[in-house]
Amino acid sequence: VNRLFEAQGTTIFAVMSQLAGEHGAINLGQGAPDDEGPEDLRRRAMEAIEKGPNQYPPMMGVPELREAVGAHDNRFYDLNVDWQREVLVTAGATEALAAALMGLLNPGDEAILIEPAYDSYRPIIEAAGATPVNVQLRAPDWKLDEEALARAFSSKTKLLVFNSPMNPTGHVFSKSELEAIAALARKHDIYVICDEVYEHLIYSGHEHIPLMSLPGMRERCVKIGSAGKTFSLTGWKIGYITAPENLMGVIAKAHQFITFTVPPAFQYAVAWGLGQDDAYYRHLAEDLERKRDLLSKGLAEAGFAVTPAEGTYFVTTDIRSLGYDGSDLDFCRELTTRTKVAAIPISAFYAPGSPNVPQTLIRFCFCKQPAALEEAIARLKEVK
Ligand code: PMP
Ligand code: GLN
Repeated sequence: VNRLFEAQGTTIFAVMSQLAGEHGAINLGQGAPDDEGPEDLRRRAMEAIEKGPNQYPPMMGVPELREAVGAHDNRFYDLNVDWQREVLVTAGATEALAAALMGLLNPGDEAILIEPAYDSYRPIIEAAGATPVNVQLRAPDWKLDEEALARAFSSKTKLLVFNSPMNPTGHVFSKSELEAIAALARKHDIYVICDEVYEHLIYSGHEHIPLMSLPGMRERCVKIGSAGKTFSLTGWKIGYITAPENLMGVIAKAHQFITFTVPPAFQYAVAWGLGQDDAYYRHLAEDLERKRDLLSKGLAEAGFAVTPAEGTYFVTTDIRSLGYDGSDLDFCRELTTRTKVAAIPISAFYAPGSPNVPQTLIRFCFCKQPAALEEAIARLKEVK
C-alpha cells in the first residue's frame, strides 16, 4: 500500500464528530451548519433532478455554473474573468485543492504552508512528491511574521497555499499582509493557491480581498471557492476554481482523472444561488456574526481567552486561563465526553515535526442554531 497515506491518521474532524455522536455532545467541532440549508436552493436541485439531464455533465462543469462563478468574481472583486477559459467546477474545495496541487507541483518542488494549516494541503503536496515548508503565524493573535515568510522561500519554491479568511484561526488577512505576500510571490515568481472558501463569511470591520486582485497576481493565483460555505450546504461538495488559462489547462487535466465531473443538479442550483442579490450575501454574514458574538461572549464568560474571529465559522480560544494542564487534544476529548461539547484542538493543524506547536488552543464552530449555542455555553460554564 502507499506508505504516505498508510501513515496518515483519520482527520480530526471525523474523529471528533464520531466522538460527539457517541457521547451525545453538541458538536462545535467540525465546521458545518446544524440545519438543512436554504430551501430555495434545495428545491432547485430537486427540480433539476426531475427535469434532467442526469447523465455526465461537461468535464469543466455545466456552462450555467461556470458562467455564474465568473459573474460572481467580476461582481464582487472586479477580476475580469472569462468563464469559458478560466472557471472549473470541482467536487468541493477539497478536490479543487487536490487538482490544483497535483496539476502544478513536480517532485522536488517546495510548497509553502502557513501554519496552523487546513489538514488536506500537506498530504496532497507530499503525494505529488513535493516538500511542504511551514511558516507559523504568531499565536494566539494570528498575525503574519513577514520576515519568517520571506525566509521560507528557496530556489525550489513552486507555490504557496494561502487561506483567507483562515481556518482555524478566523483571521482575515489585511491589505498590508496581502501586499507583503504578493511582493514575495512576484519576487520569487511563484504560484499561489488561494483557498477562499470562507470569502463571504466576513464580519464587521473586515473585508475579503482576493490575493488575485493585487497587481501582478492575476496570472499567478488559483482562486478556490466552495458552495458548501457560501450556501451552508457542506454536504453538496460543489467547489469552483478561477485560474488564468495557462494554469487552468493542467489543473483541468488533473481534475479529469480525479472525479471528471460532479452531479449536474447541484451545479444548476448553485448557479442560481450565486446570482442572488446582495441581501442574500449580507444576511449570510449577519446571521453568522450574531452567532459568533453569542458564542464568543459565552466562551469568555466560561473563562476561555477568546481571540476575536474576523471571518469563517470558527473562533479560537486559549485554555491556559482555565488552569488545565493536559494537551489540547486531551482537553477536547474530555470536553466532548464529560461536558458534552465537542471542539477541535488547534495542534491538529500543525505538521507532526513543527516546532512551537501550541498546546493550549481550541477551535469552536459557531454556525449553529442559537439554542444549541446557548446550551453549549451553559455546559461550558461548568468546566471552570
Ligand atoms: N479549505 C478550507 C480552509 C476548509 O475549511 C474546508 C472545509 N470545510 C475546505 C477547504 C473544503 O471545502 P469543501 O467542503 O468544499 O470540500
Ligand atoms: N473544513 C471543516 C472544518 O474545518 C471540516 C471538513 C471535513 O470534515 N473534512 O471543520
